[in-house]
Amino acid sequence: MKTTAYRYANEHFILAITIFLVLLVIALTATATLCASVIFIIGFVVLSYSMSQARHKDLIRQARRVTPENIPEMVELIQEGIRRLQPGQIEVFVAPSRALNAYTFGLSSPKVVVLYSALFQVMDKDELLYVLGHELGHVALGHTWLNSLVGGMAGIPSPGAAYALLNLAFLWWNRACEYSADRAGLLACGRLDKSVSALVKLAAGPEADTRAELEAVYRQIDAEDDTILGSLGEALGTHPMLIRRITELRRYAGSEAYRRLQQRVEQNRL
Ligand SMILES: [Zn+2]
Repeated sequence: MKTTAYRYANEHFILAITIFLVLLVIALTATATLCASVIFIIGFVVLSYSMSQARHKDLIRQARRVTPENIPEMVELIQEGIRRLQPGQIEVFVAPSRALNAYTFGLSSPKVVVLYSALFQVMDKDELLYVLGHELGHVALGHTWLNSLVGGMAGIPSPGAAYALLNLAFLWWNRACEYSADRAGLLACGRLDKSVSALVKLAAGPEADTRAELEAVYRQIDAEDDTILGSLGEALGTHPMLIRRITELRRYAGSEAYRRLQQRVEQNRL
């Protein structure tokens, strides 16, 4: 059993459909020849690469890189996530911000994970491991570089309707990747309750800190998938509705596949 066995079942299927649609659009439209398309995609990837390098330089100026010397208490937490999920070469930065967010980027190694500083004020160790694990999951499953490549393919110049279709497919794949990364977060912290509370806190923002406030946010999240606007928003978004992510996490946490993989990742070594 591989450490990355948590990949959401539909992720590869949706990726295959997206790539198939791109090839179909290229074949059916006269606006982009195969050769021009290849050049466009390569150009897009090169552009993504240089943008990611520039972003990295900016980050080094503003954020603190986590090392045993400057933030020793965080190194332990990060090593715990890395040990379990085995994402490969990683650099973790803490960016000063009052927002609650985390993201990853990079086409070449080491990949970069950025955690906003406010996360450390509102989350406990397990919740932080969930957030970190989610990002490490994106890295381990290759989402960071695939995102540039598939984004480039979906952005290929094509007639309006085809362009919209390719973008919808790309967003659909993005959402499948989120389900996979959520599972990685669960495997990193090993607790469903903490995974869910981390997601609720991310949605609630840094101001909601009492139990009652968080419960009110949860009720809002829970009501979200009953509205048409919610469903429409999801189809146009990079992330699934939060309540669907939570439901999917709960379902996965109850599966035999999860139980076996959780045992497996606990035994991983650095
Ligand atoms: Zn994500």
